Order: sequence, then C-alpha cells, then structure tokens
Amino acid sequence: MAVSELWVCDACGDDAVLVHAQEWTPGPHAEVLPYEGTGPVGGLVNRVWCPDCRRVQPHVFVRLNPPGAHAVIAYAEAQRIGCTGTETGPCPRCGTQLIWNLEALPCAKCPQGTYHFTGEWEDAV
Ligand SMILES: [Zn+2]
Ligand SMILES: [Zn+2]
Repeated sequence: MAVSELWVCDACGDDAVLVHAQEWTPGPHAEVLPYEGTGPVGGLVNRVWCPDCRRVQPHVFVRLNPPGAHAVIAYAEAQRIGCTGTETGPCPRCGTQLIWNLEALPCAKCPQGTYHFTGEWEDAV
C-alpha cells in the first residue's frame, strides 16, 4: 500500500503529493506507468520532490525481472532487499538528488509561497 504525503503552498494553495512505495506497470518501452490494479507489476516507485525541477519525480527502487503477477510480489521483494519506501536517488530528468522534506521550500507556482506538510494517507490497491 502506498502512503501519500500532501504538501501545500501557504500563499497560492498549490499542492505537491509525494508517494512512498507505489506499484508501477512496465510500459511497452520500459516506461514506469501507473498500476491500474490488475496486470503485471514492474516493481515499486517513490514519487519524490526534485528541488531543481520543482516538481515530483519518480524514483524506482524495486524493479521485478520478470514483472510480477500481483502487487504483493513487489512488496515481498522490497522486504527481501530491505527497502522501506523512503529511498531517494537522482532526478531522472536533471540528476539532482530527490528529497522528501519540502518544509519551507519555495513554491513552484508563485513567487512568495512556501510548502508546508498538510497530511498523509494510505491508498489500498
Ligand atoms: Zn504558491
Ligand atoms: Zn530534476
């Protein structure tokens, strides 16, 4: 089950949703596509903030080869290799280290606002 965190700008209300441990589906060209609840599971992705792109970027931390038949396989693999869903890495677009903490970081949409943690929830698959 993925856990999402909501961060909201205190000036314009722009929001950023970071996601821990979300299932993904391999696309025809090895893309990381959203998992629709059925079909092959490519693994798990964290959706983490890139301070340079000023947007959420994917960080794949479990890659099943071959893809699994059910989401539970991706979580079992994460447990086996000791992943917690807090992994980060370089931004796939610009290479900057992705970060989980947006507290007081400048808003992507307005010049004066900063983000603040607003809440989190768990999604069932
Ligand atoms: Zn803003
Ligand atoms: Zn980036």
